[in-house]
Amino acid sequence: MRVLHYPEFDRLEVRDLDATAPRPDEVSVQVAACGLCGSELETYKNHSPRRPPPLVMGHEFCGVIAEVGAEVRDWKKGARVVSNSLVPCGKCVRCQRGDTHLCAHRQIFGMHRPGAFAQFVNVPARCLIPWPENLPAEAAALAEPLANGIHVVNLTRHLPAATALVIGAGPIGLFCQQALQVLRGSRVFVADLSPERLAIAKKLGAAGVINPREQDAAKLVLQATEGEGADLVVDAVGAAGTKKASLEALRPGGATVWIGLHENTMSIDSYNITLPEKQVFGTYAAKIEELQQALELMAAGKVDALSWVHRFSLEESVTGFNRMLAAKGTDIKAVICP
Ligand SMILES: [Zn+2]
Ligand SMILES: [Zn+2]
Repeated sequence: MRVLHYPEFDRLEVRDLDATAPRPDEVSVQVAACGLCGSELETYKNHSPRRPPPLVMGHEFCGVIAEVGAEVRDWKKGARVVSNSLVPCGKCVRCQRGDTHLCAHRQIFGMHRPGAFAQFVNVPARCLIPWPENLPAEAAALAEPLANGIHVVNLTRHLPAATALVIGAGPIGLFCQQALQVLRGSRVFVADLSPERLAIAKKLGAAGVINPREQDAAKLVLQATEGEGADLVVDAVGAAGTKKASLEALRPGGATVWIGLHENTMSIDSYNITLPEKQVFGTYAAKIEELQQALELMAAGKVDALSWVHRFSLEESVTGFNRMLAAKGTDIKAVICP
């Protein structure tokens, strides 16, 4: 089969690789589309030790079952499926608690096991959900990043979210924005350094867009909320500066969700959490139920993924990778279609 191979640091190539047969509890999925995730771009750019080559990456995917393992009862050859991006063990205390996305032994596709930038990928049957008939492959593949946005909503569901600020109009930011608009009816402001990305956020329904090169995001949000601040701030960048801004733009008693991974350590005005009782959430992944919800929202036409993603064939996937690394203009998200 053809794969996008990551044989060593700084190298990507499309080549042939032998497909392995699925294990008894697995199926082989013929991949229809697989999204290229920011974490994979980061891996490649920064030689991340989390994904050491040689490797086939890719964890946001859908496809058609090509072969079924001997013990699989619930799925048949030819079924259209979307896969969870990770394989939870189902047995550890966290899985038992229902936090399958936090599983102590989770395996992520394209990290701990072969990924879906390939014609075929083996998937444990319990990680699959149906791919709705009316949903194009490029959209179905993006159920996982949208599920991350839905997870942000579910984490903060018990708190008011009339006004929200999303920092970073990358794929995760744009999905958080749409999830908040659709599921909470929030008035969402979006901040980003790129005018092209802000134009897309605006088109997707942002109440206001802010370029921090021209305006102070926190100041503007305070102005828009009579000096109070946003109920909810999502930092989809994760730089020291954006985490700081997320606390500054937040109203007392509000919540900020840190989903971006740009920078790790930083100094922080912790009194601005303690005294105004601000809440800080960290999050990274989503549950399979949220993946299901993501597919329903896209199939119902309530969340748009198709108008702002770029499609590449597997043969063109190195170009897709390089384009998203350069991230110029409207190059926000690539979907590889083998
Ligand atoms: Zn991802
Ligand atoms: Zn587990």
